[in-house]
Amino acid sequence: MQVTIVPCLSDNYAYILLSPGSKRAVVVDPGEAEPVARALGELGVTLGAILATHHHGDHVGGNAQLVEQFPGIPVFGHASDRGRIPAQTEFIEHGAQVVVEGLSFRALHIPGHTLGAVAYAGEGAVFTGDTLFAAGCGRLFEGTPAQMYTSLNVTLAALPDSTLVYCGHEYTASNLRFAAHLEPGNQAVTAKARRVAEQREQALPTVPSTLAEEKATNPFMRCDSPAIIEAVSGALGAERAPAAILGAVRAAKDRF
Ligand SMILES: [Zn+2]
Repeated sequence: MQVTIVPCLSDNYAYILLSPGSKRAVVVDPGEAEPVARALGELGVTLGAILATHHHGDHVGGNAQLVEQFPGIPVFGHASDRGRIPAQTEFIEHGAQVVVEGLSFRALHIPGHTLGAVAYAGEGAVFTGDTLFAAGCGRLFEGTPAQMYTSLNVTLAALPDSTLVYCGHEYTASNLRFAAHLEPGNQAVTAKARRVAEQREQALPTVPSTLAEEKATNPFMRCDSPAIIEAVSGALGAERAPAAILGAVRAAKDRF
C-alpha cells in the first residue's frame, strides 16, 4: 500500500491510499477537499472511497465536495455516527471488513475522543484519527477514561508492534514535551523528541509512528509506568486502576 500524506487545515493529516498499480485511491479523513483533490491529480488517480475515523469537521469537512466530484463513492463511518458524517453511505460496526480498491481493513471501534470513533487496521497500518496520536491521545469529548483506556491499551495494543500508526494531527512534538515531563528518565521519549525536532525543523511530518514506539513513548499506553503513576498520584488518592491513571494523565495534559 502506498500512503500519501496530505496536510489539511492547520495541523490535520488526510491520507491517500493506493493499492500497487491501482488508478483509484481511498482517502482517510479529508478535512478539506482541495488539497486532497490536488494530491489525487498529482498522483494521476481518481477517488474510490472515503474512510472517516469520526465525525469532527476537521476530518470530514471535504466529504461533500469530494462526493460531488466523484459521484457514487462509498463513505465509511461508524453506525452510531449516522447523521453526523456528511455523505456517509456505509454504517459499520466493530470488526467489519472494509474492502476497497484492492485494500483490506478491519474496522476497530475505539470510543473515547468521540463515541463513534473507529480505526481502520490493515495492510500493515492503522489509521487512528484523534483517538491515538503519536505520543498522545485525543481529548475525551464524549467518552470516558475507561473507554479510552480500552481503546488504546486493549483494542489497538493487540495489533502487531510493527503496525504503522497514522494519526489525525501533527501534535507529536508537544505530546513528547508532556511525555518527558511525566517520565523524565524515559530514554525512548528523549530519543524520539530529538528525532521529531529534526523532522519539524525541515517541516517534515512525524507520521507514521509504530505501535512499538507508542508502547515505549506514549504516556496513555504506559499507565503501568511507576514514574507516570507517581507523577499523577496527587490527583489519584489510593486509586490505582489503569483507567483512573489514564484519566488523571489526560486531565494533567489538558492543563499542561
Ligand atoms: Zn476530533
